[in-house]
Amino acid sequence: MNASRSTGPSGLQFTHPFLAVVLGGGFTGMLAAAALSGYAEVIVVERERLPRTPALPTDLPQARHAHLLSADGARAVESLLPGVSERWLAEGARALPLPSGASGAAPQGWSVRRPAQCVIACSRDLLDRVVREQVPALDGVGVLDATEAEGLTGTAEHVTGVRIRDTVTGRVRRLDADLVVDATGRHSTTPDRLVQLGLPAVAEERTDPGIVSATRIFRAPPGAPNCPVITARSVPEEHAGPGRTATLVPIEGGRWLVTLTGAGADRPGEHADRFVPFARRIPQCVIGDLIADAEPLSEVHLARDTASRLRRFEQLRPWPTGFVALGGAVAAFAPDYGQGLSIAAHSALALRQALRRRGLDDPGLARTVQQSLARIAQAPWTDATGRPLPAAAGARPSAAGRFVRGAVNGVLGTALGRSPVCRAYVDVVKPAARFTRPSASVPVPAAAAARRKPADH
Ligand SMILES: Cc1cc2nc3c(=O)[nH]c(=O)nc-3n(C[C@H](O)[C@H](O)[C@H](O)COP(=O)(O)OP(=O)(O)OC[C@H]3O[C@@H](n4cnc5c(N)ncnc54)[C@H](O)[C@@H]3O)c2cc1C
Repeated sequence: MNASRSTGPSGLQFTHPFLAVVLGGGFTGMLAAAALSGYAEVIVVERERLPRTPALPTDLPQARHAHLLSADGARAVESLLPGVSERWLAEGARALPLPSGASGAAPQGWSVRRPAQCVIACSRDLLDRVVREQVPALDGVGVLDATEAEGLTGTAEHVTGVRIRDTVTGRVRRLDADLVVDATGRHSTTPDRLVQLGLPAVAEERTDPGIVSATRIFRAPPGAPNCPVITARSVPEEHAGPGRTATLVPIEGGRWLVTLTGAGADRPGEHADRFVPFARRIPQCVIGDLIADAEPLSEVHLARDTASRLRRFEQLRPWPTGFVALGGAVAAFAPDYGQGLSIAAHSALALRQALRRRGLDDPGLARTVQQSLARIAQAPWTDATGRPLPAAAGARPSAAGRFVRGAVNGVLGTALGRSPVCRAYVDVVKPAARFTRPSASVPVPAAAAARRKPADH
């Protein structure tokens, strides 16, 4: 504990014996702060100036693209932030039962629409904004925005805080903490900061099929208020890459958010004129047809850095007490896996559960959380790297991954109409376990079986 502190940044008064600093005020960082509330004073350090009005979007590149929050992820967020789902819905999000609220066109045909569990469909801006409004209202949580985390302080055995820089004045200060949480997302530079403390490099697995996402927002035409989420993808040639996908998500404000993805010669571009034709070249061209005459409300936004990467923080020896990495800083996935927000919520839940069991002053706390997160991320990672993408640079698809992907496509092929299978598909955090659970087992057809007190420094 840092006994010297009593006043924090912006005049925050510290009343709790412990201080936790969360680096990054994104989805993971805010949920980590929620998990820590009640166990410590919490300061969230966020590089960007956070939007003060609903009209301003966040500055995250990926926030432009289609984001569905899975049923399982929504439950995890709700347990950390009771009432959050109601607020999302009150602001225009829709809870869409999958697969009855979504129709998927796969190479094997259309999925059957049937009641299952609800995913939250809205813009990523709305998801983030509600969470960013609720979390700072929690006990002992403060936010320092326009402030960049520059480096960690301490030793290889014990992280004692962080150096932060005001991005407006350039002033650098030191913030001592009992726990530092890295939630700076897929571009986290924390592994380098750990090396500067004398730790070995964090092992990283990476696979990059080169998927590009292109997103444009349209005004939903009159008479289409209950449009489901629609997904369509092309038939991937054997060993030819991930193919093309199109996803239409009805979002708040009577709008449709359409994201197209593809790789190599099949990647979408930023030319507005080519957006609809790209969607129409997918055999199930329903999305292209639906947006052909719809009024565009945005430019086309591209996301090119979509590699799946898994950082093995849990393997660090020695383990530095007082430090944990969560969410996208640990596991980031290519866009078509749609699991990042759910993993963010589950990693914050793992932190909350470890705090309940051990308390923040237990030296083994951070390591326990890191090991939990490694377990949480393993199945989605296996799924994400199991695609037979020879074009991918990096890890080869594992045998387990190929099995899971085969099972997924088998499910898509014939069994989406079966309720246990639908629930397993919607609860995406442990897809491998769920797909292999007896109650979710289905005869996979042979053809498909072969997919969170500054001192002057
Ligand atoms: C194209 C695309 C589509 C996706 N679709 C889905 C989907 O449908 N469903 C789903 O669940 N997931 C989806 N994802 C994944 C999802 O976007 C991520 O999992 C999620 O954003 C991770 O949240 P995070 O808070 O860990 O990281 P981020 O959202 O990246 O937030 C990190 C925060 O840290 C801040 N920061 C960074 N560096 C510093 C620093 N040095 N100091 C202070 N602050 C810093 C950033 O400004 C940012 O606010 C998609 C991703 C992409 C790229």
